[in-house]
Amino acid sequence: MKDLIKQNIGLLKPYVIPKESMHTKLDANENPFNLFDEIKEKFIDEIMHLELNRYPDTDSNELRELLAKFMDIKKENILCGNGSDEIIQIIINTFVDKEEYVITHNPTFSMYKIFTMIAGGRALEVSCENSFHIDIDQIIQEANKRKTKVIFLCNPNNPTGILIPRKGIEKIINSTKSIVVVDEAYYEFLDETIIDLVNQYERLIVLRTLSKAYALAGARIGYAVAHEGTMELLYRVKPPYNINVFSQTIGKLFLQHSQLIDAHIQKIKKERDDLVGAFYTMKDIEVFPTSSNFILIKSREAKKIIALCKENGIAVRGFENEKLLQDCIRITVGTREENRRLLDLMKKVVE
Ligand code: PMP
Repeated sequence: MKDLIKQNIGLLKPYVIPKESMHTKLDANENPFNLFDEIKEKFIDEIMHLELNRYPDTDSNELRELLAKFMDIKKENILCGNGSDEIIQIIINTFVDKEEYVITHNPTFSMYKIFTMIAGGRALEVSCENSFHIDIDQIIQEANKRKTKVIFLCNPNNPTGILIPRKGIEKIINSTKSIVVVDEAYYEFLDETIIDLVNQYERLIVLRTLSKAYALAGARIGYAVAHEGTMELLYRVKPPYNINVFSQTIGKLFLQHSQLIDAHIQKIKKERDDLVGAFYTMKDIEVFPTSSNFILIKSREAKKIIALCKENGIAVRGFENEKLLQDCIRITVGTREENRRLLDLMKKVVE
């Protein structure tokens, strides 16, 4: 088999998802509220009329129409994917040939690098050593030293929560010749976006998802927003029928109930601010500013905290093998009760 696999796949390790099931999941940046409970009767009504012998709408037209209304842009500026993961892969497959470069910052969401390697491209990571701040000028310098096809910027960044200023993003677009992808997976917890610039810059692609604030991680719906010319290229690569009919149905229903979602986003933001406040009062805990639904902390006691959480059925995200994130833990904001339980456990270690 070794002779058969592509060279880059030999270097890859599988994406690890923890196998133990914990009763409290604060490790995957999901929404802690199962909002499906409030909508499921309508969902059941709708699926009673489905013709499951037929393929779904290949381009998710109704979903895109709803999204277009929300963002006040045209449906032609939108592409829906089976999670934004799929769209990251579509973008790389559209633009990156073998041995060509993709630039990311480090740390960030790992799938940019993984999909680049799968495509046979080269991922160059610009390290964020200064309190995780993203060095705009270094990204520009590195991009211009070689032919760089795509630059991924994660805003706010997962796992640090750090923001990239809008001016910095515009500077990168204006000073390079690359496609610039701004991943706004956590946009709703912040409300700052660069989507208004997609018609001005053909090389800008913005990524969003319904997996986080929209509480639909199980349905796998992401979307990209870009100039119509750029979209035409991405649609050449998008697999047909990529979002199944159940997901399209539930996605539409959630978008039609955006007030319910908004109310829960406000709750999560309040919980986040309370959690950040509590972390600040703890000895030996460094807290990084966040604009998201997760918080990165650093502590000499990180290993102990993670182990104690695990013993008590709480999953948080540690980073054992990542140099820049040594002693860091990423904690997703949970419900009030979940957060209380976490804080009580942490107090046993750090106070
Ligand atoms: N981008 C970022 C920054 C993420 O954190 C994630 C999920 N962890 C994704 C994209 C993928 O999201 P989806 O569920 O839409 O595939």
